[in-house]
Amino acid sequence: MFKIGCHLSTSKGYLAMGKEAVSIAANTFQYFSRNPRGGAVKPLNLEDIQNFNAYSQEHGLHPPLAHAPYTLNPCAQKPNIREFALMVMKDDIERLEHIPGSLYNFHPGSHVQQGVSVGIELIANTLNQVLDPNQNTLVLLETMAGKGTEIGRSFEELRQIIDKVEHNKLMGVCLDTCHVYDAGYDIVQDLDGVLEDFDNIIGLQRLKAVHINDSKNPIKSHKDRHEKIGKGHIGMEAFERIINHPALVSLPFYLETPNDVAGYAEEIAALKNRRHK
Ligand code: FE
Ligand code: FE
Ligand code: ZN
Repeated sequence: MFKIGCHLSTSKGYLAMGKEAVSIAANTFQYFSRNPRGGAVKPLNLEDIQNFNAYSQEHGLHPPLAHAPYTLNPCAQKPNIREFALMVMKDDIERLEHIPGSLYNFHPGSHVQQGVSVGIELIANTLNQVLDPNQNTLVLLETMAGKGTEIGRSFEELRQIIDKVEHNKLMGVCLDTCHVYDAGYDIVQDLDGVLEDFDNIIGLQRLKAVHINDSKNPIKSHKDRHEKIGKGHIGMEAFERIINHPALVSLPFYLETPNDVAGYAEEIAALKNRRHK
């Protein structure tokens, strides 16, 4: 089963997102847990969620991936910014518990002037206050491009965070193809080698989702500019290998390419064509 979807707008609610996914032949989707820039959130609409859960079952949708707002920085220097991240993550996870099998992805954060090891420590501290051993939602660290002082630019950094989290059975990783390429991992020439590294450093059992994006920039640019599939430096041939790789084939893939919904429908169709049975 090819689990493929794209990033959808949250504004009309869960059932609307489910229907939109089905309308473009997706069987999963990603969405922002709340306003990606500010962090504002609407009150929880349990009726919408119940309708969505029923609709998901009927249509065989795989659990959606919630993306935390970009403005979260669990390793900020200012305590009030870290406090905000903690509060938002806790509240998001509580909400996600209403949607079976939910995944929650976040950018580990930017250490600014504090250095990587302080940043890693602060991120793990936040997670240790956020994670409830009884929660069902898995929390994913996203692999980052290494723009500015972003943490998560290497598999080693992600592993160090995971190692410091007490309930790390609740932790996984979301691999963003644009970001890892930008960080310097050659998924075009040496996909096997990159996935072997991932396995040796983090463990492939932690890999729970893939963000499938081409890159506007060459390898190791640290720019984080997504491109449409096949239109960037990664290219369609590499994506064909990625979606069919034995280590990735059972994972859900989420497009975050610069597209409207019609553009996503085309990319989903193109990727399905490249998927081997
Ligand atoms: Fe992201
Ligand atoms: Fe991403
Ligand atoms: Zn990105």
